[in-house]
Amino acid sequence: MTLTIRLPRITILGTGGTIAGSATSQTQTTGYQPGAISIQSLIDAVPAIAQIATVKGEQVANFRSTEVTSPILLDLCRRARAANESDDCDGVVITHGTDTLEETAFFLSLTVPWKKPIVFVGAMRPATAISADGPINLLQAVTLAASPTALGRGPLVVLNDRISSGFYITKSSANALDTFKAPEQGHLGYFDNSQPKFFYSSASPIGLHYFDIKDTIDLPQVDIVYGYQGLNPHIITEYVRAGAKGLILATMGNGGWTIAGMEVVRQVIEGGVIVVHSHRSQDGAVSSSVDISISSGLLSPQKSRIMLQLALSSGYTLEQTKSIFEI
Ligand code: ASP
Repeated sequence: MTLTIRLPRITILGTGGTIAGSATSQTQTTGYQPGAISIQSLIDAVPAIAQIATVKGEQVANFRSTEVTSPILLDLCRRARAANESDDCDGVVITHGTDTLEETAFFLSLTVPWKKPIVFVGAMRPATAISADGPINLLQAVTLAASPTALGRGPLVVLNDRISSGFYITKSSANALDTFKAPEQGHLGYFDNSQPKFFYSSASPIGLHYFDIKDTIDLPQVDIVYGYQGLNPHIITEYVRAGAKGLILATMGNGGWTIAGMEVVRQVIEGGVIVVHSHRSQDGAVSSSVDISISSGLLSPQKSRIMLQLALSSGYTLEQTKSIFEI
């Protein structure tokens, strides 16, 4: 009697980025076109994937990740949720440009129930380069999505032989292959001969908040204002005039903003805009506030922005919003 072993079924959602990038020569590693190669061609370029899983590619988009918008995030969320619910899918891989991968991974951490593995993967060298990192990263991402060890950990990120938390990672270098880091929280695991190995058993990050956005069709505009010596205090009013319903301040240190700037911040808050104080430093937290603004805690400006968009679109009060940031 022959026993047929069914391979795990993995859905790969392609969105572009450097992993799908194409240059005019093998030695060109800057100035190439990201999002030039189809998801099917990326899968076909790694025949070893067929030994690990039965994969199905879906092209969601094919561009540089700077072009990801709220409707695209919502579309990805719908597809990841559908895969989560489907009996024909055991895990999801999302290929993504590294520039804004941390934003999409954070968004899905907050909006997709974690039933099956969701693994983000990118690359720092285009697919046409000598020693392109995309093919091995894709193989490892599929291996991880097919592995029961990935269950209950939320969206994960694979790059450069490392496994990281989609909630915590950030792109730490504009160029280096080991760009994804969570300096305070660390990596969750690594690959040994392309097999995933974890340092810890599964756990949820403190501060993870779930938003049910099944019926959401767009997200409100929230903008980020960068803090620096001599900042123009009135730039904030311009953001509000241009439609911002919320603002994130990338403050200096632990909540620092100029005296003249704070005056304008107070005025926009009184006008109904929600303001979150985040930090321009890579690490550390902004301490809980005692006034009407909100502190981001550990969240970076780009992650605070997503959290605030979700809170606003869910109709949270100021107090509810404060409570999900200031844990
Ligand atoms: N340079 C980017 C990348 O590493 C391009 C992008 O984010 O789409 O994928």
